[in-house]
Amino acid sequence: MPPESRRPATAEPLSSDAVSFDAVSFDGDDTLWDFAAAFAPAIAHAADLLGAELGAPVEVDWLQRIREEVAAGLPGATLPELRLAAFAEAVRRRAGRPELADRAFEAFMAARARSTRLFPEVAEVVAALAARMPLALTTNGNAELSWTGLDPYFSAVVRAVDCGRSKPDPAIYLITAERLGVAPARILHVGDHPVEDVAGALAAGFQARLIDRTGRTPGALTSLAGLLLSR
Ligand SMILES: [Mg+2]
Repeated sequence: MPPESRRPATAEPLSSDAVSFDAVSFDGDDTLWDFAAAFAPAIAHAADLLGAELGAPVEVDWLQRIREEVAAGLPGATLPELRLAAFAEAVRRRAGRPELADRAFEAFMAARARSTRLFPEVAEVVAALAARMPLALTTNGNAELSWTGLDPYFSAVVRAVDCGRSKPDPAIYLITAERLGVAPARILHVGDHPVEDVAGALAAGFQARLIDRTGRTPGALTSLAGLLLSR
């Protein structure tokens, strides 16, 4: 055993994990819950509904291509606005009734609500952290915390769709800080996107940690359980 490993723990140099914080802000999609696992059945459900109503099959890939085309023409639109606009365009191309797009969107959101699952450690880690400090959700998406039962643990929910600012804009993080009542430098933001979550949060003066559950990013969290070791 090399001599270094026999030193007492208190003599270890401080790692970035030892930086303290008074509140945590979380990204939602692919940080707290698996977005793709809920999205896939939800978009398939919407496609089935549209196909049944329009009298001819509607393919998910076709809906997604329309979504990309619509996004190119609507810079600055929120994610739910783009999804609804894509359904509207799909319905228009098949000469369906316009209100069918609203029904498809409602079915899509209801299926996402049913299908959204937390990553395995999240409920336990969130409950443990919430007992010690305020927590916020800072998201560009439109998932609801109530879908997963996390809502009682969060004192602030800041969604781009509601506040008109999207990550990585530092402004959305400053709204989170204000809602938490905690100085940006004392808030740790955790998310899976290097730019939206890490660069954006750092630009707002927050601390930030990337989570990469694949383990491919050196220094990133691979599970939120790492946050409990940080205190
Ligand atoms: Mg994310």
